[in-house]
Amino acid sequence: MTINPLADKDRIFTNLYGYQDWGLKGAQARGDWDNTARLMQIGQDAIIDEIKASGLRGRGGAGFPTGMKWSFMPKEPTPGRPNFLVINADESEPGSCKDREIIRHDPHKLIEGALIAGFAMRARAAYIYIRGEFIREAETLFAAVQQAYDAGLLGKNAAGSGYDFDVFVHRGAGAYICGEETAMLESLEGKKGMPRLKPPFPAGAGLYGCPTTVNNVESIAVTPTILRRGAAWFKSFGREKNEGTKLFQISGHVNKPCVVEETMSISFRELIDRHAGGIRGGWDNLLAVIPGGSSVPLVPANEIIDAPMDFDALRDLKSGLGTAAVIVMDKSTDVVRAIARLSYFYKHESCGQCTPCREGTGWMWRVMERLVEGNADISEIDMLWDVTKQVEGHTICALGDAAAWPIQGLIRHFRPELERRIIARQGQLEAAE
Ligand code: SF4
Repeated sequence: MTINPLADKDRIFTNLYGYQDWGLKGAQARGDWDNTARLMQIGQDAIIDEIKASGLRGRGGAGFPTGMKWSFMPKEPTPGRPNFLVINADESEPGSCKDREIIRHDPHKLIEGALIAGFAMRARAAYIYIRGEFIREAETLFAAVQQAYDAGLLGKNAAGSGYDFDVFVHRGAGAYICGEETAMLESLEGKKGMPRLKPPFPAGAGLYGCPTTVNNVESIAVTPTILRRGAAWFKSFGREKNEGTKLFQISGHVNKPCVVEETMSISFRELIDRHAGGIRGGWDNLLAVIPGGSSVPLVPANEIIDAPMDFDALRDLKSGLGTAAVIVMDKSTDVVRAIARLSYFYKHESCGQCTPCREGTGWMWRVMERLVEGNADISEIDMLWDVTKQVEGHTICALGDAAAWPIQGLIRHFRPELERRIIARQGQLEAAE
């Protein structure tokens, strides 16, 4: 499938690389905050309907339809129990680095989007929870929010809309698990960032027990442009149920790693050739790709090369689009060690409150470390597979799944390599006897 390249004029993020002023004047020159009140005049339900019609699916990894998520919020908040919007800027997934580019270079898209999305959901305020390590980004965001207040775009009668709306920026403290929506709410409330059991879901009882929607930075930042240009324009990109444009973050063994906005469903080959200068050493040197950040299984070269980069096509390959953090591995990669390193990450970041994850992530990591050296029995490969299945779907939050899936991908596609290491090691031991 050949997808038309995204023309410059069709991009949402026109200052992604920071060549222009990130501040309010620069943002206004690019069309942000242009008569925002008029966009809001169509009414709250009409905004939600427009976002539904655009086909926008959440850009934080899960891909849930954004407009539908907004529609779960109460239409008439009860006194003393306001609605809240929480924006997830705790971007910590290995491979993901798009939200920080938005915040660094286009923060007003996020702030204007917060006002419009918050208004649509009848929210009193938005809390932007930003990753603790994003020091410069947090400084930019604090400054941009202040600019918006100084210009009357936030606060009482925000942007002349007649709607009162506040935005608060909260810095995290370096825990990956706080990117999980309910752990984020706990952390915002000043508690230890541990995921909550669901139900209740945040739209029923979220921040401070009030109705809350948690959205990713990119999902909110694209909202004003969708409303300005229309749902049909956004929907014209990609393919059915996978519409719009998307920020892809291409890292690893490509000639030119980059973050780029492209149309959904572009093929992997087109994406890499057009923006990342091709695979290091040429296409024959490609080994495998993790297409959506470290939480999704890898896909071997022969399956990914012509695959559309979207939610459904990558799910059919038993992987996922996730955050579209594309990690490319060429044939120089020790793929077993790479997945063992990810296992360590999940073991380290487990909050420890549920047994399958607390015990399982450590167990899987220790076996993976032995498999790197071939220091295992062949039967342990099946045992490791079984343990991933006991962890998957049996934990409070998705971190358990995220720890299990990369290992499943490795066993599914690289079992011969695991066996080769074990046999080679056994041969070495026998020769030494
Ligand atoms: Fe914590 Fe892991 Fe359970 Fe999530 S799955 S709640 S990170 S122990």
